[in-house]
Amino acid sequence: MKPEPPPTGQTRPPDPSEQEPMLYCPCCDARLAELKCKLICRRCGYYMSCADYY
Ligand SMILES: [Zn+2]
Repeated sequence: MKPEPPPTGQTRPPDPSEQEPMLYCPCCDARLAELKCKLICRRCGYYMSCADYY
């Protein structure tokens, strides 16, 4: 009796593009700063809350 190898191949490779939502300001294309549950554009003052994009 030999132990079966652990099932491999089911693990998904890490995808850095899905780590965190990188959102950009629709007004000025600056990157939004994440602040608690809001995304704020420091350039023009635009902001959106998490509830808006989830
Ligand atoms: Zn902006």
